[in-house]
Amino acid sequence: MNETIDITSKEMWERAKEIYLSTLHSVEEKSQVDRYLSMILSVSRKGDNFIVLTSNAYAADYLKDNYSERLRKCLELVADGEKIGLEFKYDETAKPAIIMPHNQMGRQSYSNATSTFISTMPLNEEYTFEEFVRGPSNSWALAAAQGVVSNPGKSGYNPLFIHGGTGLGKTHLMQAIGNELKRRNANMAICYLTAETFLNEYVNALKNGQIETFRNRYRTIDLLMVDDVQFLQKGKQFQEEFFNTFCALWQAHKQIVMTSDVAPKNLPAVEERLISRFEGGMVQEIESPNYETRLAILRKKSESMKPAIPDYALEFIADTIKSHVRAMEGALHRVSIFRSMDPTENLTKETLSKLLKDFIEKEQTLKKLNIEEIQAVVAKKYSVTITQILSAERTQSIVTPRQLAMYIARKFTTKSLPEIAKLFEKTHATIIHGVKNIEKRLDVESDLKATLAEILSEFGYNLSDKMD
Ligand code: ADP
Ligand code: MG
Repeated sequence: MNETIDITSKEMWERAKEIYLSTLHSVEEKSQVDRYLSMILSVSRKGDNFIVLTSNAYAADYLKDNYSERLRKCLELVADGEKIGLEFKYDETAKPAIIMPHNQMGRQSYSNATSTFISTMPLNEEYTFEEFVRGPSNSWALAAAQGVVSNPGKSGYNPLFIHGGTGLGKTHLMQAIGNELKRRNANMAICYLTAETFLNEYVNALKNGQIETFRNRYRTIDLLMVDDVQFLQKGKQFQEEFFNTFCALWQAHKQIVMTSDVAPKNLPAVEERLISRFEGGMVQEIESPNYETRLAILRKKSESMKPAIPDYALEFIADTIKSHVRAMEGALHRVSIFRSMDPTENLTKETLSKLLKDFIEKEQTLKKLNIEEIQAVVAKKYSVTITQILSAERTQSIVTPRQLAMYIARKFTTKSLPEIAKLFEKTHATIIHGVKNIEKRLDVESDLKATLAEILSEFGYNLSDKMD
C-alpha cells in the first residue's frame, strides 16, 4: 500500500493542505498543524480513499482526531465534490519521531549530558506562560509549573504531574515550562515527547540492539517532559524501562514533568511502584474553565485576529462552548474566517448559532451520551438484553435494536468508528452497514422513527440533534 505514491494523489494532497492552511488565521494553529503535517511520510490513494502514513503513531492519532474531517473536506473540494475517505496510519517501519541536534553543552550545572543527540518532539513556541490564561480551574497547576521553572529538579515539585480532560491546557502548560527553561538556560538538555513516542523509540531501540544508547540518552537529560502518560499502560517491559529512567533522573535531581488525562492512581494497568513515584512529587489537576476564564482565553486568542472579533461574539462562544478550550478555539477560528469574508456582516445570535451549529451540537452530545448507556436504553426499549445486542444473533427482533443503537452511537456521539466498533464488539464494516440500514428504514418506517425519537428524548435529545 505504501509504495503506491502516485503524483496526482500527492498533488491533490498538497492542494488540499494549502486550502486548509489558508483557512487558519492564527499563527498558533498554523504552526501546530504544520508541525503535525511535517510528520507525514507519504500519501497514497486507493480508489476513493486517501491513506496518509506518518512517522509516529501519536501524529497519526492526532491528525485523525483533530484535522481529518477538515482535511477530508478540502480533499473533496480539490476533487470537485467527489466523495473522499481519509485515513491516517503510522508507518511502523519508519524511523523514530524526530531527531534534533542537541545544544552544545555549556554551563557547569547542565553539562553532564554525554550524548550529542536526544530524540524529542519540537516545542510549540506559542505555548508560553504569557499566553496561558490563569483561572480558578488551572491556578494550582500554573503555580506548580512556575515553581518548577524557579527551581527545576528540587524535591516537592519533582515530578510534577498534571492531569485533566482533553483540551484543557496540559500540553500548553507543560511546554511553557520547557520554553521558559530553554529561554533561561540555553544549555539545558530539554526533552519533550509523548509517552507513545517514548514507547516507540524504546521498541525500536530493542529491535536494533541499541538499548544502551537509548538508556544513556534519556538518563542524561536535565528536563524530561512526557505528555499523555496514560499510554504507559502499553507494555510491562517498557514500564520497567520507564521506571529505571525515572529513578535515574530523579536521583540526579533532574526535573520530570508528566501529563495524563487521569490522576496517577487511576492510570489503568500501570504498576504500583510507578504510581507511587508519580505521586511522590506534586500532582495537580486542571479542570474545565469557568465562564470568565473561557472569555479571557478567547480574548487572548483573538487579540491578533483581523478584522477584530466583537466582544459579544466572544461572549457567545464562551457561553455555548464549555467543555474544552480546543473546541472553543475551533469556533473562534470559524468566526474569524467568516468575519474576514464579510467584515460588514452583523454577527447576530442567529448567525453565530448557525455558523457554530456543529460545535454547539457536539457540546451537548459530549456531555450526555455514552455508548454503554445507549445500548442499555435501546435494549430496554426493545426488551432484549445487552448481551443480545452485542451478540451475532441474526433474528430481526435483535438486529433492529442492535442497529438502532449503532445508529445512535454514530450519529449522536462524537465517538470514532473504531471506538464504536470496539464497544459493539463488531467490525467497522458491520457498524457502517447497520447505520446505513437504519438510515434507509427511517425514511420509510414512521414507527421506527417514533421509537428513535422516544429513545432520544430519554437522553434529553431530539432527532434534529443529529450530527452532519
Ligand atoms: P490538553 O493537552 O490538555 O489536551 P492543550 O494544552 O493542547 O490541551 O490545549 C488545547 C488548546 O487550548 C491549546 O491551543 C491551548 O493553547 C489552549 N488553552 C488551554 N488552556 C488555556 C489557557 N488557560 N490559556 C490559554 N490557552 C489555553
Ligand atoms: Mg495534550
